[in-house]
Amino acid sequence: MSPAGARAEDPVAGIRRVRVRLGPAVAIAAHHYQRPEIVALADFTGDSYRLAVEAAASRARYIVFCGVRFMAESAAILARPGQEVLIPDPGAGCPMADMIDAGAAAAVLARLDTLTGSEVAPVTYMNSSADMKAVTGARGGSVCTSGNAAAVLSRFLDRGRSVFFSPDRNLGWNTARALGLDGSRVFTVRRDGSIDGTGDPSRAALFLWDGHCHVHRRFTVADLEAARARVPGITVMVHPECDGPVAAAADRTGSTEAILEAVRAGGPGSAWAVGTEAGFVHRLAAAMPDRTVLPLRESYCMNMARIDAAGLYATLRSVEDRLDGGTGPLYHPVTVGVSVREDAARALTAMIDTVAGAR
Ligand code: SF4
Repeated sequence: MSPAGARAEDPVAGIRRVRVRLGPAVAIAAHHYQRPEIVALADFTGDSYRLAVEAAASRARYIVFCGVRFMAESAAILARPGQEVLIPDPGAGCPMADMIDAGAAAAVLARLDTLTGSEVAPVTYMNSSADMKAVTGARGGSVCTSGNAAAVLSRFLDRGRSVFFSPDRNLGWNTARALGLDGSRVFTVRRDGSIDGTGDPSRAALFLWDGHCHVHRRFTVADLEAARARVPGITVMVHPECDGPVAAAADRTGSTEAILEAVRAGGPGSAWAVGTEAGFVHRLAAAMPDRTVLPLRESYCMNMARIDAAGLYATLRSVEDRLDGGTGPLYHPVTVGVSVREDAARALTAMIDTVAGAR
Protein backbone atom coordinates (compact mmCIF):
# COMPACT_ATOMS: atom_id res chain seq x y z
CA MET A 1 0.00 0.00 0.00
CA SER A 2 1.31 3.44 -0.77
CA PRO A 3 0.10 6.97 -0.01
CA ALA A 4 -0.47 7.40 -3.74
CA GLY A 5 -2.72 4.32 -3.75
CA ALA A 6 -4.68 5.64 -0.77
CA ARG A 7 -5.27 8.96 -2.54
CA ALA A 8 -7.17 7.21 -5.38
CA GLU A 9 -10.23 6.97 -3.06
CA ASP A 10 -12.21 9.82 -1.50
CA PRO A 11 -10.04 10.39 1.58
CA VAL A 12 -12.74 11.59 3.98
CA ALA A 13 -15.01 8.62 3.21
CA GLY A 14 -11.98 6.33 3.43
CA ILE A 15 -10.95 7.75 6.82
CA ARG A 16 -14.45 7.15 8.22
CA ARG A 17 -14.46 3.56 6.95
CA VAL A 18 -10.98 2.68 8.22
CA ARG A 19 -11.59 4.52 11.51
CA VAL A 20 -14.59 2.29 12.30
CA ARG A 21 -12.59 -0.82 11.43
CA LEU A 22 -9.62 0.16 13.64
CA GLY A 23 -11.84 1.03 16.63
CA PRO A 24 -10.01 1.78 19.91
CA ALA A 25 -6.62 0.76 18.49
CA VAL A 26 -6.31 4.30 17.10
CA ALA A 27 -6.90 7.78 18.49
CA ILE A 28 -6.84 10.83 16.21
CA ALA A 29 -5.68 14.04 17.94
CA ALA A 30 -6.11 17.39 16.19
CA HIS A 31 -4.90 20.85 17.14
CA HIS A 32 -7.37 23.76 16.97
CA TYR A 33 -5.52 25.21 13.95
CA GLN A 34 -6.12 22.13 11.79
CA ARG A 35 -8.32 22.15 8.69
CA PRO A 36 -12.08 21.86 9.48
CA GLU A 37 -12.36 18.40 7.88
CA ILE A 38 -9.51 17.12 10.07
CA VAL A 39 -11.02 18.58 13.25
CA ALA A 40 -14.36 16.97 12.36
CA LEU A 41 -12.70 13.55 12.08
CA ALA A 42 -10.68 13.78 15.33
CA ASP A 43 -11.31 11.85 18.55
CA PHE A 44 -10.05 14.80 20.57
CA THR A 45 -9.12 18.38 19.78
CA GLY A 46 -7.44 21.11 21.77
CA ASP A 47 -4.46 23.37 22.19
CA SER A 48 -1.00 21.91 22.69
CA TYR A 49 -1.48 21.47 26.47
CA ARG A 50 -4.80 19.69 26.24
CA LEU A 51 -3.56 17.46 23.43
CA ALA A 52 -0.46 16.41 25.41
CA VAL A 53 -2.58 15.52 28.45
CA GLU A 54 -5.28 13.72 26.41
CA ALA A 55 -2.70 11.80 24.41
CA ALA A 56 -0.95 10.72 27.64
CA ALA A 57 -4.29 9.46 29.00
CA SER A 58 -5.22 7.62 25.80
CA ARG A 59 -5.15 3.81 25.78
CA ALA A 60 -4.94 3.64 21.96
CA ARG A 61 -1.99 1.71 20.56
CA TYR A 62 -1.55 4.26 17.78
CA ILE A 63 -1.99 7.99 18.33
CA VAL A 64 -2.29 9.80 15.01
CA PHE A 65 -1.27 13.36 15.67
CA CYS A 66 -2.67 16.06 13.40
CA GLY A 67 -0.58 19.09 14.26
CA VAL A 68 3.01 20.22 13.87
CA ARG A 69 5.94 18.06 14.78
CA PHE A 70 6.75 19.45 18.25
CA MET A 71 3.23 18.56 19.36
CA ALA A 72 3.58 14.98 18.13
CA GLU A 73 6.96 14.77 19.87
CA SER A 74 5.32 15.84 23.15
CA ALA A 75 2.78 13.04 22.75
CA ALA A 76 5.65 10.60 22.04
CA ILE A 77 7.48 11.77 25.18
CA LEU A 78 4.41 11.12 27.34
CA ALA A 79 3.28 7.95 25.51
CA ARG A 80 2.84 4.67 27.39
CA PRO A 81 5.09 1.68 26.65
CA GLY A 82 3.93 0.04 23.43
CA GLN A 83 2.14 3.15 22.14
CA GLU A 84 3.25 4.66 18.85
CA VAL A 85 2.72 8.25 17.76
CA LEU A 86 2.29 8.91 14.03
CA ILE A 87 2.18 12.18 12.13
CA PRO A 88 0.60 12.24 8.64
CA ASP A 89 3.18 14.74 7.32
CA PRO A 90 6.63 14.67 8.99
CA GLY A 91 7.45 17.93 7.22
CA ALA A 92 4.87 19.85 9.30
CA GLY A 93 7.27 21.89 11.42
CA CYS A 94 7.05 25.13 13.36
CA PRO A 95 9.42 27.98 12.40
CA MET A 96 9.26 29.38 15.93
CA ALA A 97 10.31 26.06 17.47
CA ASP A 98 13.30 26.03 15.10
CA MET A 99 14.51 29.45 16.30
CA ILE A 100 16.55 27.89 19.12
CA ASP A 101 18.25 24.53 19.51
CA ALA A 102 19.51 22.65 22.54
CA GLY A 103 23.15 23.58 21.98
CA ALA A 104 22.39 27.31 21.80
CA ALA A 105 20.14 27.10 24.88
CA ALA A 106 22.79 25.29 26.94
CA ALA A 107 25.39 27.91 25.97
CA VAL A 108 23.05 30.81 26.84
CA LEU A 109 22.14 29.26 30.20
CA ALA A 110 25.81 28.80 31.12
CA ARG A 111 26.47 32.43 30.22
CA LEU A 112 23.48 33.70 32.21
CA ASP A 113 24.53 31.65 35.25
CA THR A 114 27.87 33.47 35.21
CA LEU A 115 26.24 36.87 34.60
CA THR A 116 23.73 36.55 37.47
CA GLY A 117 25.90 34.48 39.83
CA SER A 118 23.05 31.99 40.27
CA GLU A 119 21.55 29.01 38.48
CA VAL A 120 19.08 30.44 35.96
CA ALA A 121 15.92 28.33 35.53
CA PRO A 122 14.85 27.46 31.98
CA VAL A 123 11.15 27.80 31.18
CA THR A 124 10.48 26.59 27.66
CA TYR A 125 7.32 27.12 25.64
CA MET A 126 5.65 23.95 24.43
CA ASN A 127 6.45 25.16 20.89
CA SER A 128 9.97 23.74 21.00
CA SER A 129 11.85 20.59 20.02
CA ALA A 130 12.15 17.50 22.24
CA ASP A 131 15.85 18.35 22.68
CA MET A 132 14.94 21.79 24.05
CA LYS A 133 12.50 20.23 26.50
CA ALA A 134 15.24 17.80 27.56
CA VAL A 135 17.71 20.64 28.30
CA THR A 136 14.93 22.23 30.34
CA GLY A 137 14.10 19.09 32.32
CA ALA A 138 17.76 18.25 32.97
CA ARG A 139 18.17 21.64 34.74
CA GLY A 140 15.00 21.31 36.82
CA GLY A 141 13.06 23.74 34.60
CA SER A 142 9.58 23.48 33.15
CA VAL A 143 7.69 23.55 29.90
CA CYS A 144 4.71 25.93 29.68
CA THR A 145 1.94 26.76 27.23
CA SER A 146 0.35 30.12 26.49
CA GLY A 147 -2.48 29.18 28.86
CA ASN A 148 -0.27 28.45 31.88
CA ALA A 149 2.86 30.56 31.25
CA ALA A 150 1.95 32.93 34.13
CA ALA A 151 1.57 30.09 36.64
CA VAL A 152 4.78 28.35 35.51
CA LEU A 153 6.87 31.55 35.46
CA SER A 154 5.52 32.57 38.88
CA ARG A 155 6.60 29.25 40.33
CA PHE A 156 10.24 30.19 39.69
CA LEU A 157 10.08 33.99 40.03
CA ASP A 158 8.29 33.80 43.40
CA ARG A 159 11.25 31.80 44.73
CA GLY A 160 13.68 34.50 43.63
CA ARG A 161 14.99 32.52 40.64
CA SER A 162 16.00 34.26 37.42
CA VAL A 163 14.39 32.62 34.38
CA PHE A 164 15.49 32.10 30.79
CA PHE A 165 12.31 31.91 28.69
CA SER A 166 12.34 30.63 25.10
CA PRO A 167 11.64 30.58 22.24
CA ASP A 168 8.77 33.14 22.00
CA ARG A 169 9.76 36.62 23.17
CA ASN A 170 6.22 37.97 22.85
CA LEU A 171 4.67 35.34 25.11
CA GLY A 172 7.39 36.00 27.70
CA TRP A 173 7.00 39.78 27.47
CA ASN A 174 3.20 39.77 27.57
CA THR A 175 3.20 37.36 30.51
CA ALA A 176 5.74 39.51 32.40
CA ARG A 177 3.46 42.51 31.84
CA ALA A 178 0.41 40.57 33.07
CA LEU A 179 2.37 39.55 36.19
CA GLY A 180 3.31 43.19 36.83
CA LEU A 181 7.04 42.46 36.53
CA ASP A 182 9.32 45.52 36.60
CA GLY A 183 10.30 46.10 32.93
CA SER A 184 13.84 47.07 33.94
CA ARG A 185 14.36 43.48 35.11
CA VAL A 186 13.35 41.93 31.76
CA PHE A 187 16.03 41.46 29.07
CA THR A 188 16.07 40.13 25.53
CA VAL A 189 18.80 37.70 24.49
CA ARG A 190 19.36 38.15 20.75
CA ARG A 191 20.49 35.38 18.46
CA ASP A 192 23.76 37.26 17.87
CA GLY A 193 24.50 36.91 21.60
CA SER A 194 23.75 40.52 22.61
CA ILE A 195 21.56 41.18 25.65
CA ASP A 196 19.16 44.16 25.44
CA GLY A 197 17.36 45.91 28.28
CA THR A 198 17.30 49.09 30.32
CA GLY A 199 18.57 47.92 33.73
CA ASP A 200 21.42 45.89 35.15
CA PRO A 201 21.31 42.40 33.54
CA SER A 202 23.04 40.81 36.53
CA ARG A 203 19.82 41.63 38.48
CA ALA A 204 17.45 40.34 35.79
CA ALA A 205 14.32 38.42 36.72
CA LEU A 206 13.61 37.31 33.17
CA PHE A 207 15.70 36.76 30.06
CA LEU A 208 13.70 36.34 26.83
CA TRP A 209 15.00 34.62 23.71
CA ASP A 210 14.03 36.69 20.66
CA GLY A 211 12.06 34.02 18.77
CA HIS A 212 8.60 34.72 17.35
CA CYS A 213 5.61 33.26 15.51
CA HIS A 214 5.22 34.94 12.13
CA VAL A 215 1.49 34.08 12.07
CA HIS A 216 0.84 36.11 15.25
CA ARG A 217 3.31 38.88 14.54
CA ARG A 218 1.26 39.97 11.52
CA PHE A 219 -1.39 41.64 13.71
CA THR A 220 -1.01 45.38 14.26
CA VAL A 221 -2.57 48.06 16.44
CA ALA A 222 -4.07 49.48 13.20
CA ASP A 223 -5.92 46.13 12.78
CA LEU A 224 -7.49 46.64 16.22
CA GLU A 225 -8.52 50.20 15.39
CA ALA A 226 -10.06 49.06 12.09
CA ALA A 227 -12.06 46.32 13.83
CA ARG A 228 -13.36 48.78 16.44
CA ALA A 229 -14.34 51.26 13.72
CA ARG A 230 -16.12 48.54 11.75
CA VAL A 231 -18.09 47.06 14.67
CA PRO A 232 -18.51 49.55 17.56
CA GLY A 233 -18.41 47.77 20.93
CA ILE A 234 -16.63 44.72 19.54
CA THR A 235 -14.36 42.86 22.00
CA VAL A 236 -10.82 42.41 20.68
CA MET A 237 -9.11 39.29 22.02
CA VAL A 238 -5.61 38.33 20.90
CA HIS A 239 -3.21 35.46 21.49
CA PRO A 240 -0.19 36.35 23.69
CA GLU A 241 2.18 35.44 20.82
CA CYS A 242 1.16 38.83 19.32
CA ASP A 243 3.47 41.83 19.68
CA GLY A 244 3.41 43.65 23.03
CA PRO A 245 1.67 46.84 21.79
CA VAL A 246 -1.06 44.73 20.14
CA ALA A 247 -1.61 42.71 23.32
CA ALA A 248 -1.63 45.93 25.40
CA ALA A 249 -4.21 47.57 23.11
CA ALA A 250 -6.53 44.52 23.05
CA ASP A 251 -9.45 44.14 25.43
CA ARG A 252 -8.32 40.66 26.36
CA THR A 253 -5.48 38.24 25.72
CA GLY A 254 -5.62 34.47 26.01
CA SER A 255 -4.58 31.10 24.66
CA THR A 256 -6.52 29.44 21.86
CA GLU A 257 -8.45 27.47 24.46
CA ALA A 258 -9.18 30.68 26.43
CA ILE A 259 -10.41 32.40 23.25
CA LEU A 260 -12.75 29.47 22.56
CA GLU A 261 -14.14 29.66 26.11
CA ALA A 262 -14.51 33.46 25.99
CA VAL A 263 -16.50 33.42 22.75
CA ARG A 264 -18.68 30.60 24.08
CA ALA A 265 -19.30 32.49 27.32
CA GLY A 266 -19.94 35.76 25.44
CA GLY A 267 -23.37 34.49 24.49
CA PRO A 268 -25.65 35.23 21.52
CA GLY A 269 -25.27 38.72 20.05
CA SER A 270 -21.73 39.24 21.35
CA ALA A 271 -19.10 40.48 18.87
CA TRP A 272 -15.46 39.40 18.74
CA ALA A 273 -12.41 40.35 16.72
CA VAL A 274 -9.88 37.59 17.29
CA GLY A 275 -6.14 37.86 16.78
CA THR A 276 -4.98 34.32 16.19
CA GLU A 277 -4.76 31.78 13.35
CA ALA A 278 -7.57 32.71 10.94
CA GLY A 279 -8.66 29.16 10.10
CA PHE A 280 -9.49 28.64 13.78
CA VAL A 281 -11.38 31.96 13.93
CA HIS A 282 -13.50 31.03 10.89
CA ARG A 283 -14.32 27.68 12.53
CA LEU A 284 -15.43 29.52 15.68
CA ALA A 285 -17.66 31.77 13.57
CA ALA A 286 -19.22 28.76 11.81
CA ALA A 287 -19.78 26.89 15.10
CA MET A 288 -21.45 29.91 16.80
CA PRO A 289 -23.40 31.74 14.08
CA ASP A 290 -25.41 33.73 16.66
CA ARG A 291 -22.25 35.70 17.54
CA THR A 292 -20.16 37.99 15.33
CA VAL A 293 -16.68 36.43 15.20
CA LEU A 294 -14.14 38.05 12.88
CA PRO A 295 -10.44 37.42 12.33
CA LEU A 296 -8.45 40.52 13.22
CA ARG A 297 -6.56 39.77 10.00
CA GLU A 298 -6.47 36.76 7.64
CA SER A 299 -3.28 35.23 9.03
CA TYR A 300 -2.91 31.48 8.47
CA CYS A 301 -0.40 28.85 9.61
CA MET A 302 0.65 27.00 6.46
CA ASN A 303 2.64 24.52 8.55
CA MET A 304 -0.52 23.31 10.29
CA ALA A 305 -2.27 23.16 6.91
CA ARG A 306 0.25 20.59 5.65
CA ILE A 307 -1.86 17.93 7.38
CA ASP A 308 -4.71 17.07 5.01
CA ALA A 309 -7.30 14.33 4.60
CA ALA A 310 -5.23 12.47 2.00
CA GLY A 311 -2.25 12.29 4.38
CA LEU A 312 -4.41 11.26 7.34
CA TYR A 313 -6.04 8.55 5.22
CA ALA A 314 -2.65 7.21 4.13
CA THR A 315 -1.56 7.09 7.79
CA LEU A 316 -4.69 5.18 8.85
CA ARG A 317 -4.31 2.79 5.92
CA SER A 318 -0.72 2.08 6.99
CA VAL A 319 -1.97 1.24 10.51
CA GLU A 320 -4.73 -0.96 9.07
CA ASP A 321 -2.16 -2.78 6.99
CA ARG A 322 0.06 -3.31 10.05
CA LEU A 323 -2.82 -4.63 12.18
CA ASP A 324 -3.74 -7.01 9.33
CA GLY A 325 -0.24 -8.48 9.55
CA GLY A 326 1.32 -6.46 6.75
CA THR A 327 4.96 -5.43 6.84
CA GLY A 328 4.68 -2.12 4.99
CA PRO A 329 5.93 1.11 6.57
CA LEU A 330 3.89 3.14 9.03
CA TYR A 331 3.25 6.75 7.93
CA HIS A 332 5.08 8.31 9.89
CA PRO A 333 6.40 7.32 13.34
CA VAL A 334 7.57 10.09 15.67
CA THR A 335 10.25 8.80 18.02
CA VAL A 336 12.32 10.40 20.76
CA GLY A 337 15.54 8.83 22.14
CA VAL A 338 15.44 7.39 25.67
CA SER A 339 17.64 9.95 27.47
CA VAL A 340 16.00 12.92 25.71
CA ARG A 341 12.63 11.45 26.53
CA GLU A 342 13.35 11.06 30.25
CA ASP A 343 14.61 14.64 30.67
CA ALA A 344 11.89 16.11 28.45
CA ALA A 345 9.20 14.19 30.36
CA ARG A 346 10.49 15.82 33.57
CA ALA A 347 9.93 19.28 32.06
CA LEU A 348 6.45 18.38 30.79
CA THR A 349 5.48 16.78 34.10
CA ALA A 350 6.66 19.90 35.96
CA MET A 351 4.16 21.92 33.89
CA ILE A 352 1.33 19.45 34.45
CA ASP A 353 2.05 19.44 38.23
CA THR A 354 2.06 23.26 38.33
CA VAL A 355 -1.30 23.41 36.59
CA ALA A 356 -2.74 20.72 38.89
CA GLY A 357 -1.40 22.60 41.95
CA ALA A 358 -2.90 25.88 40.75
CA ARG A 359 -6.43 24.45 40.52
S1 SF4 B 1 0.89 29.23 14.47
FE1 SF4 B 1 3.02 29.93 14.79
S2 SF4 B 1 3.73 28.88 16.64
FE2 SF4 B 1 1.88 27.79 15.91
S3 SF4 B 1 2.69 26.14 14.60
FE3 SF4 B 1 2.22 27.89 13.23
S4 SF4 B 1 4.20 28.98 13.10
FE4 SF4 B 1 4.37 27.61 14.89
